[in-house]
Amino acid sequence: MPKSAKITGIKSVCCYTIQEAADITGVSERTVRAWIKGGLPAMTQERPTLIRGDTLIAFIKAQRSARKTLVGPDQFFCLKCRDARKPASGLVDCEVTGERAKLTAICGVCDTIMHKPVAHTQVPMLSKVFDLTIRDEARTVKGVVVE
Ligand SMILES: [Zn+2]
Repeated sequence: MPKSAKITGIKSVCCYTIQEAADITGVSERTVRAWIKGGLPAMTQERPTLIRGDTLIAFIKAQRSARKTLVGPDQFFCLKCRDARKPASGLVDCEVTGERAKLTAICGVCDTIMHKPVAHTQVPMLSKVFDLTIRDEARTVKGVVVE
């Protein structure tokens, strides 16, 4: 994760452009755009896009508590639900790159794409938990299928 966002300077009654929101929270504009994609409510019909101060504070606070949310081995953290969620139908894509593996699944509740990085060594255990499709650089293996 990039450095954490500050909320101390945000005035809840103000509206901020993406650039202003980035300046005041100490993150990049790219991060703010990623927040909007990840569920931060913004007035995207306006030019420029505006974000309400109180919405911004609530979003950053929710992100902070998200980091404290316990995510089980059979769960992902869904940015939209802001909670631990199981993948839809237990389907998980696993992309192995050297020692690391990246899991991708769809939230069983809201259909948002969720990611989770894991160690390569966890993959055999995970294939018992999920219907895992493993994509290795060298080979493609279909894991345990749960009908
Ligand atoms: Zn969700």
